Amino acid sequence: MSEREAQAGAVLTIDLGAIADNYRRLQRHAPKAVCGAAVKADAYGLGAEQVAAALANAGCRHFFVAHLEEGIRLRPRLPSDAEIYILHGQPHHIGADMECVRHRLVPVLNSAVQIAGWRALARRLNIALPAIVQVDSGMSRLGLSACETTAVLDDPDGLRGLELRYLMSHLACADQQDHPMNEAQLAAFEAMRARFPACKASLANSSGIFLGPRYHFDLLRPGAALYGIAPVAGAANPMKPVVSLQARIIQTRSIEAGDAVGYGAAYQAGSARRLATLSVGYADGWLRSLGKRGAVMVGRVRAPIVGRISMDTCTIDVTDADPAHVRPGALVDLVSPAQTVDDVADAAGTIAYEILTSLGQRYHRRYLAAEPLHTRRPAEASHAIEFNA
Ligand SMILES: *Cc1c(COP(=O)(O)O)cnc(C)c1O
Repeated sequence: MSEREAQAGAVLTIDLGAIADNYRRLQRHAPKAVCGAAVKADAYGLGAEQVAAALANAGCRHFFVAHLEEGIRLRPRLPSDAEIYILHGQPHHIGADMECVRHRLVPVLNSAVQIAGWRALARRLNIALPAIVQVDSGMSRLGLSACETTAVLDDPDGLRGLELRYLMSHLACADQQDHPMNEAQLAAFEAMRARFPACKASLANSSGIFLGPRYHFDLLRPGAALYGIAPVAGAANPMKPVVSLQARIIQTRSIEAGDAVGYGAAYQAGSARRLATLSVGYADGWLRSLGKRGAVMVGRVRAPIVGRISMDTCTIDVTDADPAHVRPGALVDLVSPAQTVDDVADAAGTIAYEILTSLGQRYHRRYLAAEPLHTRRPAEASHAIEFNA
């Protein structure tokens, strides 16, 4: 343990080796497709720079970000043969499309306006410009409608000058395997795809990969499953856990029956209790809604959160915990194999995606790095690299 870690109020550990293993697992699950990775929103809060480098090491060459700025930051970190796709397409501001070209970023064209802009630039530069075209197969979020697709295809200049890499769409209900929307979207996507016969296709996010080979097409776009989030609702999670989170006990105290805890005096003890105050709060993404149903693990004992979660602290009931684990300076487990990100999300009334992307910037971040692939990784070997949060 480094000195910085020994002093940190809370420690976020990100296992890059587990991310690489999850990447390989998804690729094995869909061997006919190429596995890419969604690393938008700072790789779901885990650090796009470190995560993308680990994925590149594991063989990934297709990276999806949402914003142009995310792509620009990532470009110098990735091998030159890696593709970076901008899910939102080129932004509207003047010069944005030239920035895509300059940084070798491939926009996902979501509308007739974005297609026209990219086509105009291709004409101006007199080069073919790469692009993904997204069609809407039922989510009504991004992408061309069936009508707009017809208009583009009927226009002899519609896609002129564009090097169409993939036709893409996105699934709305893929985590619920028997939701009728999945088949409906697949059928709609197939119908659109028939009109772009030479073009490769991409449909599946993490959950979509587990809907079966008909959903795989040519390029997979997992995010959540790479980061250990369960891809199929209600089923065992086949992915390796990636994130663990620990917070330090700042202070302990005993209270009597009738004593109140925290803001709003929202909790009143029914009997004498032993409490510990932790150095983590909602400013760290330890969501305020966890105050009602959340808990942490103190050794092997579940210690419920009592009272409201504050900005920088929360209070837990450690009456049943082993006193040896309950002392100022000790670390308790917020996310661990005993309480996964999905469990925390359930307790908070949200999804694990929101838990990860809410993780604040105050944690001491510990990255467990896999050995580079080409030097073959011995069974349990990993070494920690310290990054200052
Ligand atoms: C975020 C995103 C993904 C990744 O989704 P996961 O559910 O995290 O696997 C894939 N495709 C698109 C278009 C996205 O926006």
